[in-house]
Amino acid sequence: MMYDMIIVGAGPAGMTAAIYGQRAGKRTLLIDAKGFGGQILNTPEVENYPGIKKTSGFALASALYEQAMEQGAEIVYAQVTAVEDSGAVKNVVTADQVYETKSVILATGAKNRPLGLPEEESFVGSGVSYCATCDGAFFRGKKVAVIGGGNTALEDAEVLSNLAEEVYLIHRRDTFRGEQATVKRLLAKDNVEFFMECVPCEILGDAKVSGLKIRNVKTEEETQLPVEGVFVAIGQMPDNEAFADVAPLDDHGYIAAGEDCLTATPGIFVCGDCRTKAVRQLATAAADGAVAALAAAAYINGTDTQA
Ligand code: NAP
Repeated sequence: MMYDMIIVGAGPAGMTAAIYGQRAGKRTLLIDAKGFGGQILNTPEVENYPGIKKTSGFALASALYEQAMEQGAEIVYAQVTAVEDSGAVKNVVTADQVYETKSVILATGAKNRPLGLPEEESFVGSGVSYCATCDGAFFRGKKVAVIGGGNTALEDAEVLSNLAEEVYLIHRRDTFRGEQATVKRLLAKDNVEFFMECVPCEILGDAKVSGLKIRNVKTEEETQLPVEGVFVAIGQMPDNEAFADVAPLDDHGYIAAGEDCLTATPGIFVCGDCRTKAVRQLATAAADGAVAALAAAAYINGTDTQA
C-alpha cells in the first residue's frame, strides 16, 4: 500500500501537517516513537497560541490529535530508523516494517538536552527527570533541584514549588534567560532557593538520587544539596542523524531548510523545531506543518516548482 505522505513525528508540527495533508485529499500516515503530542505535553499552561487564551499542552495535543484523526489521518507508534529516497517512491523504515510513500515530512522536533554527567543516564526514572509536569507529583513533600535559566526551568520550578518541600533553582549565570515575571513570582516563594552562577557537577545516590553536588563557577566552592529529584531543563537539541543522508543537517544538527520547508531532496519536507529556524514556538511549528503539507501536496500533484 502506498501512502501519499508519511509524517515522522506527531507533535504540533506533524499533526498540523496531517490535518492539511488529509484536507488536500492525500492519504496521510503519522509515525511517532512515543505517542502523539511531542514537547508541548511538558507545558502545563499554554497562553500564547493565537485564538486560545489559556489551555494545557495536553489538552491542545489531544485536540490536535482528534482533529487529525477525524480528518482521516492514520497513526502508528514506532521508531523510524531511516528514510530512503528512490525518486518517486520513498521508504520509511521502522524496526518492524517498511512503509512506501510518495512524500515524507520530517517533524521530529527536538529532545531534551542532558547535563552530560557520567552518572546522569543511570538515574533517569530514579530521581532524574526532564519533565516537571510529568514527574513532579512523585516528589510531593521532598526536596528537588531544577537546573536551567530559561522559561522551562522557571516554569518547572514554579510547578514543583507547589508540590515539593524545597526547590533549589540552579543556573550557570547571574541573570535569567526566562521571563522576569516568573522570576518575580519565584522570588516571592518561601520554598524556592536560587543558586546563581552554579553548575551541577555530580548526582549522588545508589539506586536512587539522594543528593546533588553543585559548584560555583566564580568561587569554585562546592555545595551538596540533599535532593531526591533533579529536574534538568537546559533546553533542547535535535535528533536528526538518521535522516542526514536525505535531508542534510546544519552545523547544529537541525535539518537545513528555509521557511518553504523544502529539504535538499525533492519529495522530502521538514517542519517544526527540527529544522533550521530562528523562532521555535507552538505557533511557528503549526505554521510549518501547514507549509510542509501543502508543499508535499503540490509535489505529489506535480504543481510545485521544486523539482
Ligand atoms: P532555553 O531558553 O534555551 O534555556 C536553556 C537554559 O539552560 C539557559 O538558561 C541556559 O543557560 C541553560 N543551559 C544550557 N546548557 C546548559 C548546560 N550545559 N549547563 C547548565 N545550563 C545550561 O530553553 P528552554 O527554557 O527549554 O526554552 C526553549 C524555548 O521555549 C525558549 O524560546 C522559551 O522561551 C520557550 N518556552 C516558552 C514557554 C512559554 O512561553 N510559556 C515555556 C517554556 C519554554 P544560559 O542562559 O547561560 O544560556
